Amino acid sequence: MQKFLAAAVLAVLSTSASAATLIHAGRLIDGIADKPRENVTIVVDGKSITAVESGFRAAAAGDTVVDLRDSTVLPGLMDMHVHLTSQYSRTSELDAYRRTEADTALDGAVYAERTLLAGFTTVRDLGDSFLASFALRNAISAGKVKGPRVFAAGKSIASTGGHADPTNGRARWLGLPTPGPAEGVCNGADECRMAVRQRYKDGSDVIKITATGGVLSLAKSGQAPQFTDEELAAIISTAKDYGFTVAAHAHGMDGMKRAVKAGISSIEHGTFMDDETMQLMKQKGTLYVPTIIAGRWVGDQAQDPTFFPAVVRPKALQVGPQIQGTFVKAYKAGVKIMFGTDSGVSAHGDNAKEFAYMVEGGMPAMEAIKSATMVPARFLGIADKLGSVEAGKLADLVAVPGDPLADITAMQRVRFVMKEGAVYRQ
Ligand SMILES: [Zn+2]
Repeated sequence: MQKFLAAAVLAVLSTSASAATLIHAGRLIDGIADKPRENVTIVVDGKSITAVESGFRAAAAGDTVVDLRDSTVLPGLMDMHVHLTSQYSRTSELDAYRRTEADTALDGAVYAERTLLAGFTTVRDLGDSFLASFALRNAISAGKVKGPRVFAAGKSIASTGGHADPTNGRARWLGLPTPGPAEGVCNGADECRMAVRQRYKDGSDVIKITATGGVLSLAKSGQAPQFTDEELAAIISTAKDYGFTVAAHAHGMDGMKRAVKAGISSIEHGTFMDDETMQLMKQKGTLYVPTIIAGRWVGDQAQDPTFFPAVVRPKALQVGPQIQGTFVKAYKAGVKIMFGTDSGVSAHGDNAKEFAYMVEGGMPAMEAIKSATMVPARFLGIADKLGSVEAGKLADLVAVPGDPLADITAMQRVRFVMKEGAVYRQ
């Protein structure tokens, strides 16, 4: 590390109106080509990349050189499933009674910075409390807080008792108000339409639903379907009216299949996905966001019988270890895969471990990297500005030591992060 810092000292020669930042990259994975390029200069002016040239261009007066000749430079990474404003722990259930909106927002600022420093310059935040992810997104885009650019769902939409019903497991005598569409809980088509419209009003960029039970909620089933066909149709057609994509959390097969048939944009986790659902997803162009790391993490924690509440542990043992196997099958079947971790289950900043799990599951390293760069950029509709290292795009760049195509764990050792031309890690 020390050696690297010494080597990467900036060479500021003088000041000049045409000053550019010249990034000397030993290897470049540009997000588009199937093979890396060796020894290139990426020219950054202001927020944008203005050129990508062969060889190491010498600095003109006023230019700044960033020496990454011993590194691989890649486009800023994108994680399509995070929860920036929370992180699960042994005390999460009790914390729900103690923590305030302010605690949640402040934690979000800390986790956002960790995520950025791990090389993730764009994320999709799929569910929060207190609308904190919107405040965080806005503070980051205003430059008040360091973090990735955020596409936020706000509150996930669930049915009563569903995975994202915020009062699951709370005793009735507490007298908590029954959550409705405004709080993200809906039953029947009309309420579900209202729940989507409320998200529009709140400022969502994307809609998230919980199509089946989940692991960490205080409810018995991790797999039961939790929306009817009618409710799914109401959610997805209303979302379309506002230009939203809809992401569905799904472990169980039946709820997952219903969501895919209804036209959902992405399946998250997809644990008990069968062959028929994989074929349907291919036909419909539904993306699969596996979140293998979340499965591994809950499976590992469940080895300690005291870590999870009693109702959660059997679900963690059943669902957790299954996800990577499903990823292997879905990848082989040709389902389109997009990178996502569910960070907030596992620790923020560990996001890049997912690459190693994907490669372990049979995906070539280059394809895993594209699933976290160009694939999400196209999905989010931002591929004209982000997702690759090309002239004219925003300068979101990261660097890792050595060659991640030879050793994918290099993705976990990000040493340089630039977002829109500003350096956050060096
Ligand atoms: Zn999630």
